[in-house]
This record gives sequence, structure tokens and C-alpha cells, in this order.
Amino acid sequence: MILSFFNSMDLKDIEEKVLASTYKRQPISLIKGKGAIVWDSEGKEYIDCFSGIAVLNVGHSNPKVVKAVKDQASKMMHSSNIYYIIPQINLARLLHSVTGGYKSFFCNSGAEANEAAIKLVRKYTGKSKIITAKNSFHGRTIATLSATGQERYRKDFQPLGDEFTHVKFGDIQDLEQAITNETAAVLLEPIQGEGGVIVPPPNYFQKVREICNKNNILLVLDEVQTGLGRTGELFAWQLYNIKPDIFTLAKSLGGGFPIGAMLAKKSVMDAFKPGDHASTFGGNHLACVAAKATLEVILEKNLHKKARILGEDLLKNLLKLMNNHKVIKEVRGQGLMVGIELKKDGSYVVDAARERGVLLNCTSENVVRILPPLIVTKSQLRKVINIIDQIL
Ligand SMILES: *Cc1c(COP(=O)(O)O)cnc(C)c1O
Repeated sequence: MILSFFNSMDLKDIEEKVLASTYKRQPISLIKGKGAIVWDSEGKEYIDCFSGIAVLNVGHSNPKVVKAVKDQASKMMHSSNIYYIIPQINLARLLHSVTGGYKSFFCNSGAEANEAAIKLVRKYTGKSKIITAKNSFHGRTIATLSATGQERYRKDFQPLGDEFTHVKFGDIQDLEQAITNETAAVLLEPIQGEGGVIVPPPNYFQKVREICNKNNILLVLDEVQTGLGRTGELFAWQLYNIKPDIFTLAKSLGGGFPIGAMLAKKSVMDAFKPGDHASTFGGNHLACVAAKATLEVILEKNLHKKARILGEDLLKNLLKLMNNHKVIKEVRGQGLMVGIELKKDGSYVVDAARERGVLLNCTSENVVRILPPLIVTKSQLRKVINIIDQIL
């Protein structure tokens, strides 16, 4: 094992000297993964219920994705968007078909996909004001941080753009009152992820869609976390029976390979002309074969349907835990995007679960977030529930 001569204390000391201290690390290093199981540098095994932040929907080192990347890497990794890129066209055709006609622009991350969406909104509408939600998360670049409705991420990076108004997520009246003649678009997560797995009230998004239509405003959905099967549908907008004008994908799109996408209805995307937007790496050969293989695995294995069924079972079992554990305030979620809100800081649950061989995450201080690969088994999830039960 490459890292066997480092223990986790060494890693901490070494990286303090050479890396920016932007990340608060947990004291392990993962070096191998297969499906929903990962191993650390000391050989300890875990059930992964975090999927590298909702990235590994198809599981770690999915064989089909690995093969696509290996084959492509030996032929051509990158040519630039100066030339036609066949894997990019193939990926866009597949997305066009599964979305019912959306056109794609490819980039490398969620923040970049949202940046592209913000630029397209401006180009298409000729306006710049966008309504987003309090408690939202849209990325770490200056524009996407301006869109993000959480003070803890914003406070040290002022001034941020004032083109964004933040309204209460799930509150139709608040949204309606924020609309002016200057409003170009509404940008929302279908379910807030980073903000603590917040599921909006029933019919909220149908009403948002109606309001956008009535006021001639674009509806942009940030599906960076919810996209590609996570919530039990391929895209979360299908849960609500609406169609956004623009939506973004990233995290799970490449099966572990970095790629982002901004998709828009043809009439909207066609506002972009050559030179309006670009990315050197965006949609390169390697990223696009990884994403196409990932999407094919999701479709062939019906992973979105699997997520719905497993998610219902998971939610039901977690709700049962509420009877015995007064520390649980609420259990909520959709598909395999589930949060357990505690009455106190949840990091002790993450630490104790890791020691017992389960990787979880805590967001918004007191929400334990469960985001397993969609290929996780029912028995693996049962194990996870038992361990959470013991810890609580
Ligand atoms: C993670 C996330 C982003 C940012 O994606 P990056 O790839 O980290 O830039 C944006 N929006 C949502 C909803 C996310 O969950």
C-alpha cells in the first residue's frame, strides 16, 4: 500500500506545511473503493453513506466507467473545443434524449455550471436580477457565492454581487413579493442539500413554475446534488412534474470524474453565440466518456427507481428510531437523499459511525446527511440504521 508508511498523524503534519488549510479533514485517508464499500490506508473497511458528497451514484470505480476512461485515455484525453469532440456530442445526444430535448454546455464543476446558467440568464433576458433562496448553496465562486443564501460561506468575502435577492425557501408569498420588473430568473435547488436536506412543501415548485410563466421569468434549477437518480427520479424536476428553463448538473455526472453541465431549453440556449462562453477543459474526451458511461449505468440498472424504493425503506426505518431517541428532531428526505435533524450538533454521530465502519456527513451543524451510492444494498442500509440506532 502506497501510504502504509504514513499514519494519519503524519498526513496532518505534512499537509499543514504544503496545502492550503481550506478543509477540515476527518482523520482517515481512503485509498480503495468498490461499489458502496471503501477502504482506508490502514485497511479498515467502511460502508460509504456519503458517496464523496453525492458524487458516486454508480458506486466507487464502477467497472463500466473505469473501462470507458481507460480506453479513452489511451486514445485521446483532450483536444480543446476548437475542434468537434465526438464523445461530447455523444453525451449531449444522450442527455438530449433523456431530458426530452434540452441542449447542453459542459464545464468542470457545479459552481461553473451555475456560473454558465447565470450568464445565459443575462444573455437571454437582458436583465441581471435573480431571486434565490435563503439557506441555499450554489458554489464558491464570487457569482455563485452571491447566489448562495448562507451567511457562513459569504461573510468574509464581501462585497458580493447585489443582483441576488434571497427569499424563504418553500414560501410562495415571499417569492411573489420579491419579483420586480427587473427580475430575470428564479434559481433554486429542488431540495436544499448543503442547507440540511430541506424538502419544500407539496406543490411549491408547481406554483413557482406558474409564477415564472405569469411574470415571464426564467426558472433555473440547481440539480448539482439532486440530479441523476439521487431523489428517485432521474432529475428532481420530474418529482414535481415541471420543466425548468435551465438546470445544472455536476457532482454525480462523471461517476467520480470531474464534469459539470448546464442544460437549457433550445430557445433559451440559442441565446448563446460563439464566443459568449467557453471552458478549456469543458466537455473534453475523457470527462465525456466517463459521464456517458455513468448515465448508461444509471439507465440500464434503473438506479433512480432503486433509489426511490431503498429511500422509502430507509426513511421508514429512520422514522421508527424517533420513538426511542428523543435527540432526533426530524427525519426527512427524498430517495437516497436523507437527513436526520438532531436537537444538537451531529458531528459525534459522524465520528462514532466512522469508528464503527460507516461514513456519514453532518451539514448545517445538526443534520446528519445520508447519501449512499444508489447501488447500495438493502442489507447494507439495514446495517447502517442499526449502527445509527446504537450511537443515538
Ligand atoms: C456541491 C454543490 C454545488 C457546487 O459544486 P462544485 O462542484 O463544488 O463547484 C453547487 N450547487 C449545489 C446544489 C451543490 O450541492
